[in-house]
Amino acid sequence: MQRGVRARGWCHGLRGALVSLAVLVCAAAAARPASADVSATATAAVLAGDSSRTSFRLDLSAGVTAEIFTLANPYRVIVDLPDVSFHLPNGTGLEGRGLVKAFRYGLFAERKARVVLDTLGPVRIERAAMTAAQKGDGVVFTFDIVTTAPESFGLGTGAEKLEKQRSEAPLPPDDPGAKPKRTGKPVIMIDAGHGGIDAGAVSASNILEKNIVLAVAKELSRQLAATGRYDIRMSRTSDVFVSLDRRLKLTAASGADLFISLHADSLAEPAAAQTIRGATIYTLSERASDEQARRMAEKENASDLVAGLDAGDGGKDDEVKSILVDLLRRETANFSADFSNALVRKLKKKVALSRDPQRSAAFKVLKQTNSPSVLVELGYLSHPDDEKLLSSPSWHKQVAASITAAVDDYFSKRTASSPAP
Ligand code: ZN
Repeated sequence: MQRGVRARGWCHGLRGALVSLAVLVCAAAAARPASADVSATATAAVLAGDSSRTSFRLDLSAGVTAEIFTLANPYRVIVDLPDVSFHLPNGTGLEGRGLVKAFRYGLFAERKARVVLDTLGPVRIERAAMTAAQKGDGVVFTFDIVTTAPESFGLGTGAEKLEKQRSEAPLPPDDPGAKPKRTGKPVIMIDAGHGGIDAGAVSASNILEKNIVLAVAKELSRQLAATGRYDIRMSRTSDVFVSLDRRLKLTAASGADLFISLHADSLAEPAAAQTIRGATIYTLSERASDEQARRMAEKENASDLVAGLDAGDGGKDDEVKSILVDLLRRETANFSADFSNALVRKLKKKVALSRDPQRSAAFKVLKQTNSPSVLVELGYLSHPDDEKLLSSPSWHKQVAASITAAVDDYFSKRTASSPAP
């Protein structure tokens, strides 16, 4: 049934190869509408068909409005949904079929869900519909994708959509993460990597980086707050996607004196996965300290792509550097290095470190002018020993205690060396 399906064509000629046709699918009259305050639940997500036509089906408890559009670099199909919670079998989306390599799903923002399908090449959306389920009282949301030529992929670009994405979610003035400092205590921004639709690294037994780093971030927040010496902010406190840009803005708005980003890595290559483990501390540098660090930054910087954001022209700001910013950055870089040293000193007593635990690369989330910042890769989800530790609450306490000790060390030195007022 095509009722309730509306296609929107947009003017073209904008940046090439961005978006093809976007389709808006509303709950059809026959389908059960979602009641105003009860969000829908997704219970199944299934691919069918082959490489000439692949269909995607999402079983929902109630009808919702879905918006489907495509992005290039890499080619993806994005489905934006309102507040849908996903109760799907473990491993859903990991295996592709037909034109789809894999797909993922989750919260994209507060009360906004998203499904991102990675496709083998440029595709077009066809036959999108939301219909009443044959059995039970649910709703079935389906659409087909077929291949299209790269030239026609850009027809009806999604400029409007992308502009909306860029401009949406301004920092609300009462966002607890962004509120400016008031207490006079040093402000520390704890940044749990990934979240929502972006799971980050995944272990063999399906342990997700986004959950591990949120648990450690909460423990670290608790321990730092317990000292009474710091004003703690978090870039996320739940399983929600936060773009890299928003993490930077939150940190700048809070006037953070220190930014700690928490991550966990995973290696695909079997021999490396069995041997490489331990924590690594990264600081910012335009030139990576080594090839592995460069690849690491590339992987972490792809977070926005994973969540279906356009890569855009994020590098533009970097070209407009003033000398002042450069000097500030240099000072900030020195403090980042000091904190990295303090972290190694404290962590190595209790936590296994990687062979080369202090590295640097061009991590987008570390591009902060005013806040000294580090990114801690807590360990490797691909190594069996690390995987066990990373999932252990007592290890979370231990690593949080070591980071807290390093924070104390760092700020006591900074206070001691700053001139008396
Ligand atoms: Zn990560």
